[in-house]
Amino acid sequence: MKERSDSLTLQGLIAAQSRLKNPIVSTLASKQSIIEAGIGGEQRVAEVLQRYTFSFKNNIFHDLSLSSDSYFQIDHLLKTPYYGVILETKNLAGSLEFRDNPPQLVQKREDGKIKYYESPVEQLERNIELMSAWLLQRNIDFPLYGAIVLAYPKQHVEIPPASTKILFPNMIPPFIKSLPQEGKRLEMSKFNWLSSEILRCHQTYIPKPICESYQVPISDVLPGVRCVACGNIGMLKVPRTWHCPICKVNNHLAHVQTLGEWFLVVKRSITNRECREFLGIKDKFTANRILQSMNFKSQGTYRDRTYFMDLRTVIHN
Ligand SMILES: [Zn+2]
Repeated sequence: MKERSDSLTLQGLIAAQSRLKNPIVSTLASKQSIIEAGIGGEQRVAEVLQRYTFSFKNNIFHDLSLSSDSYFQIDHLLKTPYYGVILETKNLAGSLEFRDNPPQLVQKREDGKIKYYESPVEQLERNIELMSAWLLQRNIDFPLYGAIVLAYPKQHVEIPPASTKILFPNMIPPFIKSLPQEGKRLEMSKFNWLSSEILRCHQTYIPKPICESYQVPISDVLPGVRCVACGNIGMLKVPRTWHCPICKVNNHLAHVQTLGEWFLVVKRSITNRECREFLGIKDKFTANRILQSMNFKSQGTYRDRTYFMDLRTVIHN
């Protein structure tokens, strides 16, 4: 029903690793595996919830990004007519200590390394508060419950938080069933309206281009059109199409993905000259035709026109 909010970040990280001639690449690789581990953990939770049939009406939303007083992201929201449940997933291996004062999560890894993180308890409480505010703005007042899910079995809790439930994925259904169904329940029409309102308000997170986030100069970026078949950079412009000298495939729309990579990796905007340099074409009329065909928003007059892409359109998964 909706794309993951970190999928653009992930696409940018993957594209940048083959585009940048810069030591930052190893940082990007570890960033990529953290995000992928997170996605894996959330998928385990999603599978448990999908396999289970609850005896009451419910909807489940994964990886939601909403804003009330401020922007917030929720890993999983389960909604029933009586209450909502917010689940935050953590994927840290080793032994975990949830400290309350000051709030902090301490991870002791199997290799003996100790790492400190923001307390997921605080994160969960903040999300419950922001979600309640979001619901109140829509005149919906029903209780929200929350829990932290440890998605991988190789996690051991040394010290649990004082008052927040910690669950392994298979404990989620019994936890949800144990919650009290008291108070006024949402009428069915309101319940259904709320589902579509959540989806309507969900916003895809647009990350900063990698070069901006990590201060990488444009001169470190490898230009060229990426082959949509074999992934190699360096397709050649031939009349009416692009040709890959490595796998010999032709594709007349190969520039589309490559321009998406420009916005994810290099800059939020592109000019005719930048487009020519990045795609490896000499003719500015060809570049102009390509830029016009992309339905980009643009600014400025013909000579110094700058184009912007709506990145939500480059999400493939
Ligand atoms: Zn190829």
